[in-house]
Amino acid sequence: MLSENQFRAEPFCAATSYRGRIAPSPSGLLHLGHARTFWIAFQRAKAANGTLLLRNEDLDPQRSKPEFVRAMVEDLRWLGIAWQEGLQLDAQGQLAEVGAFGPYTQSARRGFYLDAWRRLLAGGFLYPCICSRKDLARMAQAPHEGTQADVDDEPVYPGTCRNRNVTEDVTHPAGQSWRFRVPDGEEICFTDLHLGPQRFVAGRDFGDFLVWRRDDVPSYQLACAVDDAAMQVTEVVRGRDLLKSTARQMLLQRALGLAAPQYFHCDLVLDAEGQRLAKRQDALSLRALRERGVAPQELVQGF
Ligand code: GLU
Repeated sequence: MLSENQFRAEPFCAATSYRGRIAPSPSGLLHLGHARTFWIAFQRAKAANGTLLLRNEDLDPQRSKPEFVRAMVEDLRWLGIAWQEGLQLDAQGQLAEVGAFGPYTQSARRGFYLDAWRRLLAGGFLYPCICSRKDLARMAQAPHEGTQADVDDEPVYPGTCRNRNVTEDVTHPAGQSWRFRVPDGEEICFTDLHLGPQRFVAGRDFGDFLVWRRDDVPSYQLACAVDDAAMQVTEVVRGRDLLKSTARQMLLQRALGLAAPQYFHCDLVLDAEGQRLAKRQDALSLRALRERGVAPQELVQGF
């Protein structure tokens, strides 16, 4: 069993004070759900008298748009969130990076992810996967049962390519996707600072997950585990839809010898039908609310 203590054994060197992060993806306009999570991250960093950084999670080249990078920074500033490190607007209104742990834009951090991929490969944790999107869709259990969070989560991979050999001379992930082989049956446990004790079983609650996509893009799981450690983040505040991702990232941290931060998973903002808000629901975007004359103080009071 993977217990918290194993992960806490090695504290971040020299990081004695709180370091939090907000990590939006520029794939659309931020909405109320993001605003609430980021507001809580801001409040927690402030209460701890710590440092908050903004990381631009723009890894997906198809979905990330430069106009959303600027919009997310402007909208968070409008809301009243302040951060000390990472992507900022400078006095001339230009986007600029501030801080000693940059780059804070994931598309500029490929070298870190490649290095982690190489270390995972050398450790025997990875295998190449040739399943097509179509294969995967067919394999995913349908109809989907369970909570909204389950529906949004990467389906449990049935292990079709698990025993594929890695050819000796592979030095680069490009051209095929790569999965992390999870330790089937192992319990991943941690105490969430908001939700209390959590327990997930590898191979049952989540399967072998992608660390590198066929289109040569590192996965969210890999990038996030690598960056949170490299930026010496001590506490991650994010939505509870990412609980299983936390369990995956803890496996990556262990495989890579990285210390784990603490976690605080926030409740999600739901719409009138009880569904999680999505970026396509533009009516509840911060931008639309702002244009309708809603005051930021009114919004954050409700958080
Ligand atoms: N970029 C991710 C998102 O916007 C952040 C996830 C995280 O906080 O780890 O959902």
